[in-house]
Amino acid sequence: MASMEAPPQAAAQDRDYKLMKEAVCEAYRAVDRGDGGPFGAVIVRDDAVLVSCHNLVRKNTDPSAHAEVTAIRQACRRLGKVDLSDCEIFASCEPCPMCIALIRASKIKKVVYGAKAEAAVAAGFDASIPEAFVEYYRKSGIEIRQVQGEAARIADKVFEKPWEIPGEAMQRRRTGGGWFEKAKGMVIRCLWN
Ligand SMILES: [Zn+2]
Repeated sequence: MASMEAPPQAAAQDRDYKLMKEAVCEAYRAVDRGDGGPFGAVIVRDDAVLVSCHNLVRKNTDPSAHAEVTAIRQACRRLGKVDLSDCEIFASCEPCPMCIALIRASKIKKVVYGAKAEAAVAAGFDASIPEAFVEYYRKSGIEIRQVQGEAARIADKVFEKPWEIPGEAMQRRRTGGGWFEKAKGMVIRCLWN
């Protein structure tokens, strides 16, 4: 059968999906391992994944250990430099002001995120980011965009409350605490690998 070249847009969406899937898997891993909130980030260089990280706020007892921060630190260590201008970052959720500021400091030019910050806020996380703030960084030359289609859907799904899912997860429901306590131990839903 004659091969049909995929249109460039479809190829770009496919790439987005693959990389977002990896960031989303990290988000689930963060909760599953008890390391932190459901946030993941992947840094890409030369079209390959350089590092893949998740939120380590709980594990490290460090409020700054967001997925993007952890990923940038690891990428810099791995490359032996603080300039990541030849890298892109894929985050499972829209980066918070602290992370965007660090992204700028690291000179990363392309930011692709999955869920809107509102999705995290609705799930009880302090993740709001003013639109004016994003605009400020866009004007400084950073491309910031949300993924489309299926990639956005799987990123949104991260914030679905697992204790509201019927069946086994419901039976294992825990009481009290925030999203993390409720979700811990029942969020192994990274089934796309
Ligand atoms: Zn952040």
